[in-house]
Amino acid sequence: TDLNRIRNFSIVAHIDHGKSTLADRLIQLTGTVAARDMQAQIMDQMDIERERGITIKANTVRILYPAKDGHTYVLNLIDTPGHVDFAYEVSRSMQAVEGSLLVVDASQGVEAQTLANVYQAIDADHEIVPVLNKVDLPAAEPDRVREQIEDVIGIDASEAVEISAKTGIGIPDVLEAIVTRLPAPKGDRDAPLKAMLVDSYYDSYLGVVVLIRVIDGVIKKGDKIKMMRTGGQYPVDRLGVFTPKMQDIAELGPGEIGFLTASIKQVRDTRVGDTITHDKGGAAQPLPGFKPSQPVVFCGLFPVDTNQFEDLRDAIEKLALNDASFSHEMETSAALGFGFRCGFLGLLHLEVIRDRLEREYDIDLITTAPSVIYHVHMRDGSMVELHNPADMPDPAHIDRIEEPRIKATILVPDEYLGDVLKLCQDRRGIQMDLTYAGTRAMVVYDLPLNEVVFDFYDRLKSVTKGYASFDYQMIGYREDALVKMQVLVNDEPVDALSIMVHRDRAETRGRAMVEKLKELIPRHMFKIPIQAAIGGRVIARETLSAMRKDVTAKCYGGDASRKRKLLDKQKAGKKKMRQFGKVEIPQSAFISALKMD
Ligand code: GDP
Ligand code: MG
Repeated sequence: TDLNRIRNFSIVAHIDHGKSTLADRLIQLTGTVAARDMQAQIMDQMDIERERGITIKANTVRILYPAKDGHTYVLNLIDTPGHVDFAYEVSRSMQAVEGSLLVVDASQGVEAQTLANVYQAIDADHEIVPVLNKVDLPAAEPDRVREQIEDVIGIDASEAVEISAKTGIGIPDVLEAIVTRLPAPKGDRDAPLKAMLVDSYYDSYLGVVVLIRVIDGVIKKGDKIKMMRTGGQYPVDRLGVFTPKMQDIAELGPGEIGFLTASIKQVRDTRVGDTITHDKGGAAQPLPGFKPSQPVVFCGLFPVDTNQFEDLRDAIEKLALNDASFSHEMETSAALGFGFRCGFLGLLHLEVIRDRLEREYDIDLITTAPSVIYHVHMRDGSMVELHNPADMPDPAHIDRIEEPRIKATILVPDEYLGDVLKLCQDRRGIQMDLTYAGTRAMVVYDLPLNEVVFDFYDRLKSVTKGYASFDYQMIGYREDALVKMQVLVNDEPVDALSIMVHRDRAETRGRAMVEKLKELIPRHMFKIPIQAAIGGRVIARETLSAMRKDVTAKCYGGDASRKRKLLDKQKAGKKKMRQFGKVEIPQSAFISALKMD
């Protein structure tokens, strides 16, 4: 295809501002999908994505658009994940296109994810077309939002396109804007092949499908290709484009976006951001800027039923084949038995994997406290990367401990600002910036990632009644007074409840945890002490008093059906219990005990 007749773009938006609906409209209006095959949110394929309304993996579609100038254009849309956990994947898919539609809900205005994503687009040198969506809503204020885009983001919004992705108003204008305002791709057909690996996924019939953007050269079916970072070599079995159905094509040239299959066994063998070239006469230098995505949040996953360990292993290995950013290694816990220590890109990633294990593989899981990677500098000059508080070296040999910090950007209506500042302050945040955009405040905080991984986002939502939006990026490691806190139930340490905590906050956290556990652990036939301790020093203590176990005793014999119900309930409750020495702890206690409120 003539480079001048190609436009490659992505859509950036805050969640729920209408990205998927707009993509569906563009596909529908250009007749790319026959009306009978159209289903809502055609680009959000996985069930979990649909249920949560998020797009996890990048997706792509090729649209043919006959423009007003009489030429037919090839429009390639790459749908990027909008969540911070997948920031690296977003940045790579941005590199694969020349422009972005910036979709902002005209009844809501700019949000934190709008900012994070549009800055990525600006970093990638994109031409940006602002699109004001949901103008059909009575609450829409396109003029105000246009001004806000200019004030907050600093781009010209005077020619923003006003649309309703729902009713279809303005969609033809969006298509014209793509053709007239976004640049055509550049590239050299005669140069050695250079294609960017944008994304990949596993298909049970086709094996690994790789999404590519050709920068220079031409790739053809049957070519022998080489991945420049991993070194893997493969013959191309199939080459094609998504319309969004897979459609085979003989070759892909510069500026084009499509897919290939090449008997690649696992998604793990494909690295987002890698450069694909020919095995002979290929490019000398790979594309710049490659960095494999690294897990930042770790937790233990254990089967509630210890007999399910092998099932868990199989399930985790299957998921890992298709997700190179998910790490796992076997772990044994005195309290929980055999399980896995797993690493994730962030909390959403963790939740998605846990959900899939529970739902698709039917395994009940105990998830231990999420932890970040600490840098433990030893007295002898060596450094230990601590992924699990249970592995903490002897404090006598430790010189200092450093923790990862983030830069968090929060947008919030000003009536909730006080609560947000307090929350950040409580989480050891250092304020970096505070500015206003109309009646919304934008606060920037330097926060320890550790204080954010567990329930920061939930707390933020609740103190602002859902009106705040939040985004973050890693900024590096810094020393602080960190200690490991243990919980002892009936004098036995429960390793799954060990956490790293700042020394000044240990007592408050310890107190909160033992109080919660006292509520969450059912009474036993004997008295149970519950303690929080640092090293050998107890910093908080509660005692759960003894009780008769027979819950039907108080039914006075009378109502048999009520008695049955109680017994069933007790039995069902048991299934979710784990035995710790002589004490049974319900599975839910592990997560609840760690929540801070
Ligand atoms: P995404 O998270 O950015 O992909 O947003 P979606 O496309 O999933 O849209 C979020 C919600 O907004 C859905 O309930 C849509 O039906 C709704 N929505 C999208 N566009 C419009 C619009 O133009 N007008 C109205 N009233 N609702 C819309
Ligand atoms: Mg969506």
